[in-house]
Amino acid sequence: MIELIHEPDLYIDGRWTPGGGTDLEVENPATEEVTGRITQASTEDVETAIAAARAAFGPWAATPVAERAAVLRRLGEVLTERADLFAHIINREQGSPPRVARALHVDTPIAVVDATVEALERFEFRSELRNSLILLEPVGVVAAITPWNLPLHQVVVKVVPALAAGATVVLKPAGLTPLAAFELARAFEAAGLPAGAFNLVPGSGRVVGDLLTRHPGVDQVSFTGSTPVGRSIAAAAAESLKRVTLELGGKSASVVLAGASDELLAKAVKITVANCFLNGGQTCTALSRLIVPAGKLEQVEELAAAAAEKYVPGSRLGPLISADQRKEVESFLEPGAGGADAVTVTSPLGLPERGYYVSPAVVSRVAPDSRLAQEEVFGPVLAVLAAGSDDDAVALANNSIYGLGGAVWGPDEAALEVAGRLQTGQVDVNGGAFNPAAPFGGYKQSGIGREIGEYGIADVLEIKAVQR
Ligand code: NAP
Ligand code: MG
Repeated sequence: MIELIHEPDLYIDGRWTPGGGTDLEVENPATEEVTGRITQASTEDVETAIAAARAAFGPWAATPVAERAAVLRRLGEVLTERADLFAHIINREQGSPPRVARALHVDTPIAVVDATVEALERFEFRSELRNSLILLEPVGVVAAITPWNLPLHQVVVKVVPALAAGATVVLKPAGLTPLAAFELARAFEAAGLPAGAFNLVPGSGRVVGDLLTRHPGVDQVSFTGSTPVGRSIAAAAAESLKRVTLELGGKSASVVLAGASDELLAKAVKITVANCFLNGGQTCTALSRLIVPAGKLEQVEELAAAAAEKYVPGSRLGPLISADQRKEVESFLEPGAGGADAVTVTSPLGLPERGYYVSPAVVSRVAPDSRLAQEEVFGPVLAVLAAGSDDDAVALANNSIYGLGGAVWGPDEAALEVAGRLQTGQVDVNGGAFNPAAPFGGYKQSGIGREIGEYGIADVLEIKAVQR
């Protein structure tokens, strides 16, 4: 039997202190076994953490940029040294296969740390405008509330730019996957971050999350998670008029233009399937809709089914996070979810005996206003829609309450033009790679604000004009 990961202490004000809340067991969704145990923060622990972050704010904000950058650069080195440990923890609490755990869950946030340090070293906190001096100043205490789908990355993209800016942080990680955050606290300690600049208060969203959202000692709430919870957080934060950054759900479209060659079409289908099924389909930018010229539908169905077959549950495809999430994902495969003409073009693959696995699915001829075309699945289910023209494809892509990611495939000039017409915060043209320095965030109901790099730093800055 594998030893439990046990975290009885919280990290508050630079010290490891016993948590005052109840214990919480952490399950491995790939085995359905308890793999860890933590103690949650009590209300008093949260108060102590906010007070510590407030006390640390002045000195940290006044720390020269070069020193803040040095601490964060050292953080990147510590994360790199401990990358296998992080991958191991994430494999256990989130269920991702080891290779995915390392490449997606650990190497990506390390690249984000490096890019953010670079952005900080270049960042202009002072500028002049006529007779004014424009000063960009950190907002104060930032409460970060994060989801379970990427237990390290979602934390790093909030916390590192905030610290870079000179703000201090209180983090509430997801209850389903709190373990990586403890190791991150140890990495901050090893990197020499001053006491109180980063504080860890695990606990439920309803108690700890809600307290952070309403607390007058918190200046900004930075939340990643579902759109309904994001809406309630924005409403709760409005009472004290705190600033709010929201990274919410998505229903991102991969658009193949009529002018795409057969070779490009094949590449588009393969990469869209891979992107949609990444992390068991549990990424916010998943390309979960594939929009193709109507005349290419049969060709696409064959290509997509062949690509999907390679995502064998239990090896290349990881599990869903929980039994509840599996039930939710399965509901999108019921007859009618994709409209009257929808057909599933994949065959079910065998499932491991344990773990919250589902067989990956490609559903084609999906109706534009059906549940499958409109709602976020957060599982390995790709919806294929047919477009009558490129204009129709753009209209279908924008027919969504969401606006997070997207992709376009076609002759370069036409594809760039269509990228400009998509109402989303990210668009990848002809397979453009993830850029760890680029701003990340959503249009429409996918969010408010931007994370990562210089835009992530700017997101936690107040703007002051001094006239002379
Ligand atoms: P969720 O239920 O919205 O929870 C996210 C976080 O908010 C968790 O830490 C949760 O705590 C906390 N929370 C829940 N209710 C709260 C409340 N009333 N006040 C304050 N905090 C509260 O989301 P999830 O189920 O963990 O994650 C899946 C969803 O997140 C998907 O819809 C996905 O699209 C979205 N997502 C978006 C992005 C992005 O960057 N745009 C990235 C990843 C995921 P608990 O510990 O109690 O759950
Ligand atoms: Mg939830």
